[in-house]
Amino acid sequence: MTFNKATFNTATFDTAGLNTAHFSTATDDPDEGILDALTIGKRIRQLRRDRAMTLDDLGVAIGRAASQVSVMENGKREPRLSDLQAVARALGVPLDQLLSTEAPSRRAALEIALERAQGGPLFTSLGLPALPVRKGLSDQAIETILGLHAELERLHRERAATPEEARRANTRLRQQMRRQNNYFPELEEQARKLLAAVGHTGGPLSQRVASDLAAYLGYSLHYVNDLPGSTRSISDLANKRIYLPVSHQGSDPRGSLLRALAGHVLGATEPTGYGEFLLQRVETNYLAAALLVPEADAVRFLGEARAKRELSVEDLRDNFAVTYETAAHRFTNLATEHLGIPVHFIKAHSSGAISKAYENDDAKFPEDVLGAVEGQVVCRQWSARQVFDIADRFSPYHQYTDKPNGTYWCTSSIQSTGQGEFSVSVGTPFAHVKWFRGRDTANRRASTCPELGCCRQPPAGLSERWADQSFPSPRLESSLLAAMPAGTFTGIDSTEVYEFLESHAPVE
Ligand SMILES: [Zn+2]
Repeated sequence: MTFNKATFNTATFDTAGLNTAHFSTATDDPDEGILDALTIGKRIRQLRRDRAMTLDDLGVAIGRAASQVSVMENGKREPRLSDLQAVARALGVPLDQLLSTEAPSRRAALEIALERAQGGPLFTSLGLPALPVRKGLSDQAIETILGLHAELERLHRERAATPEEARRANTRLRQQMRRQNNYFPELEEQARKLLAAVGHTGGPLSQRVASDLAAYLGYSLHYVNDLPGSTRSISDLANKRIYLPVSHQGSDPRGSLLRALAGHVLGATEPTGYGEFLLQRVETNYLAAALLVPEADAVRFLGEARAKRELSVEDLRDNFAVTYETAAHRFTNLATEHLGIPVHFIKAHSSGAISKAYENDDAKFPEDVLGAVEGQVVCRQWSARQVFDIADRFSPYHQYTDKPNGTYWCTSSIQSTGQGEFSVSVGTPFAHVKWFRGRDTANRRASTCPELGCCRQPPAGLSERWADQSFPSPRLESSLLAAMPAGTFTGIDSTEVYEFLESHAPVE
């Protein structure tokens, strides 16, 4: 039975308890065979040298060529039992001693570990030439290489484990948001009290009112040019200062300030897990949005629009001078609670990958095996994808989509960010579209996802022509969660932050 390297490595990952007896040569099995053959070979070499025998001497004694003895000592081939018995006799040791799984010396243990590492899938994937294990290679060099290899393995494991934990936490959080219709009454109450404290009575929240809020909470604002790249703002709790960037291209300067203030109001501490980190992020964003688009004001505005059958996310955006995403997010907070309208929300990258999603209207989002939506690809027929094909980027795009569980109406808009273009979509089941402006659109699509034939399989004609005649080179998937740095939840560089605070702190 022969396997080429690539096939074999895949097989070892997928098949637990693979029967090693099937593999005739030691190099086929990076885990079991090599260890035994290597250990036995090392022991034979050690015993032979102890007895001042050459390869030739041992070869003659067991009726084999010197080269065959060398192959045996290098552990390149699983030795036959008859050969081992002959070797044991020639070296004057019991067979058990040759077969012991313990390495004969510390040096031998190091060499075995190095050869195992170099024969393993991780080292192989690096495409580096293998380091020959020679006498001249110091123990220290081997230890260093093994240390690096072990760390690389640890990082791979961590990276593989982290997104799963994050995805599970995100799924739990999305289910919680669904249960409460994405409405957090205690945060609405906090926003109302804060705005009342600074005398904000309605309308868009100006930069000045935002500053008043900071002062009310005891913070002074400092706009700087050198805010560390991993942060949106930094708070100096000792000196009650909030550092903000002088200008942040394309983003709302009030957003960073309000999120920083929201963090203080909510008493956010360093998160201890993904679940806590994600909940903090949701609550912080919620409170900041509730300050920008106050509940009472917004509900009055939306109620009037519904009475005229003119509900529109753009109008909410324009009335409160916020981004489309904030308006869409805020709409989902209030639509079910106050207007009785179930909704869904999707933020999707131009590649189709979902970065944020919420629904309480049974819109069936694509899910992975853990129930996670983030990072999954939206159906090509949905408004969240179709909007990218529309030349007019300024007018809102509306579309009816016939889905397996009913017809939905959606409105989508594209926003450009440093990470690329994203569509932000808000949708509702057909029964509720009568309240929305844009319900008269002629755009209509049918989606049968997750059925493969919907949009995940290329048309038969194209497949026939190109399936065997193409070889696209993939760009590494960079979904939001997969890109989260390992080690810290927030991706914040603490050294940078502390150095920044040190250099900006007031002199006593
Ligand atoms: Zn589809």
